[in-house]
Amino acid sequence: MTTEQDCIFCRIASGEIPADVVAEGLEWLAFRDLSPQAPTHVLVIPRGHVTSLDDPGAGVIGFGDALLAGCRKAAEATGVAGGYRVVTNTGPEGGQEVMHLHLHVLGGRQMGWPPG
Ligand code: 5GP
Ligand code: ZN
Repeated sequence: MTTEQDCIFCRIASGEIPADVVAEGLEWLAFRDLSPQAPTHVLVIPRGHVTSLDDPGAGVIGFGDALLAGCRKAAEATGVAGGYRVVTNTGPEGGQEVMHLHLHVLGGRQMGWPPG
């Protein structure tokens, strides 16, 4: 199980590992994905460790509002406001690889549906 000590996104949130930050708030941080799948590919994370949308910590009232506001700010900061996608992979079958909740903000090209 991932602990905060060995969680890569906790280490980014604390500043221990550098990241290309595009926007930030009190509760969240938005930084560019290391392996972008679109011209804009930003990850929006809570500063505190929450494993995924399935984590009870993600159910706190207001928590999701802050993260969604972070996505909107990230879209504005990267010039894709008005046309972008927000997705969060949850658990192995959902395609989640990093076990710290993150919302992908993708934009800058036409998105297809359904996603793979
Ligand atoms: P997941 O598959 O868990 O939804 O997405 C994890 C994402 O984190 C991937 O898109 C991957 O490229 C990105 N990623 C993994 N390690 C790092 C890192 O150290 N820095 C940054 N900026 N992105 C990372
Ligand atoms: Zn973490």
